Amino acid sequence: MSENRVELKSCPYCGGRAVMKDDRLGRNYAECQQCNARGSAVLSEKTAAEYWNSHTGNSSVAASTLAELKTMMTDALDFAAKAKARAKMAEGMLTECIGAIDKLQRRA
Ligand SMILES: [Zn+2]
Repeated sequence: MSENRVELKSCPYCGGRAVMKDDRLGRNYAECQQCNARGSAVLSEKTAAEYWNSHTGNSSVAASTLAELKTMMTDALDFAAKAKARAKMAEGMLTECIGAIDKLQRRA
């Protein structure tokens, strides 16, 4: 039980505390003390911990990815709004320039 201890993340289902256990075949698995959810049973305690942690990891990655996407889209929306304002400004300037050219052409 002492090979490279890896800390276990809290349960992905209920948030309970997980502990490392071993079955009679000498395999290790992480188990939630609250809802009894189990990770895969493997010989290496470290690997069993990694399996359990990657399971919890997935849901937190999904949440952070969603938050990241939302930030990116909010930025893009802001950029689009600014681009729209600049396009409007450019439109006004171009219209003015064309008007000025028209005047010069009428004089010539
Ligand atoms: Zn649980």
